[in-house]
Amino acid sequence: MLLRKLFLFIFTPVFAMSVLATPTIELKELKKQTLVVILLGPPGAGKGTQAKMLQRTLDVPHISTGDLLRSNIKEGTSLGFKAKGFMDSGKLVPDDLILDMLFSRVAEKDCTSGYILDGFPRTLDQAKAYHARLNENTKTIALNLELQDQVIIKRLSSRIVCSKCSAPFHLQYSPSKKEGICDHCHSPLIQRNDDKEDVIKKRLTVYHAQTAPLITYYSKNQRLKDVSCNQSIEQVLDEILEYLKSIYSKDS
Ligand code: AMP
Repeated sequence: MLLRKLFLFIFTPVFAMSVLATPTIELKELKKQTLVVILLGPPGAGKGTQAKMLQRTLDVPHISTGDLLRSNIKEGTSLGFKAKGFMDSGKLVPDDLILDMLFSRVAEKDCTSGYILDGFPRTLDQAKAYHARLNENTKTIALNLELQDQVIIKRLSSRIVCSKCSAPFHLQYSPSKKEGICDHCHSPLIQRNDDKEDVIKKRLTVYHAQTAPLITYYSKNQRLKDVSCNQSIEQVLDEILEYLKSIYSKDS
């Protein structure tokens, strides 16, 4: 089967080291199914980083509700205005605002063969509303990216992101080549308001109270795979890809 062949092709031992050079998987040719990869896990576990790499590999868009909200804030939309206060204080933006924004994004043409969800769903109500709208041609796979709170606090409080393209950098572990400047688009790097230590702690409290119950929801109702993020970015990616490969070889 084409799907299996393509997976075998990308799963060469050098894959994780050469993501940029990796050929993409033509999902639309495979099964006329929409593949949705849902990245669950606390803020700072590395969902955005993994989503960006998976986006290149699977050739489907990476949809981050956090990024969509931040674009709305930058563009000064009424959604951005409503969301900003919640975000700056580490709280969740109300479900109705998120669902409208998300549904209109996934209805766009580039999502037909699939997409990667990063930061959505964040509540049980979001998950239920989302799955109620999916048609039977959509296959969802949820990955639970796990990391301990104390590691997250250390990671996020030294994270800086590009003010334009949102690419993440880390002051110690992955600094930009030129201090304060994005390697990709050369715009200034900034610290997000919600990456300040007190806000990170609030976000983690919110995560444990409102988002962590999704792990039980997905393990009961959907496919769920736990992935430890206490390893290198490449090892996390390899584990995810091995899992996707195992699912596809079972299903194809
Ligand atoms: P993120 O970039 O995913 O860490 O999200 C940053 C902030 O945006 C969160 O702390 C929330 O305030 C808000 N946010 C992002 N996604 C959601 C969501 N699915 N539901 C509610 N709020 C969200």
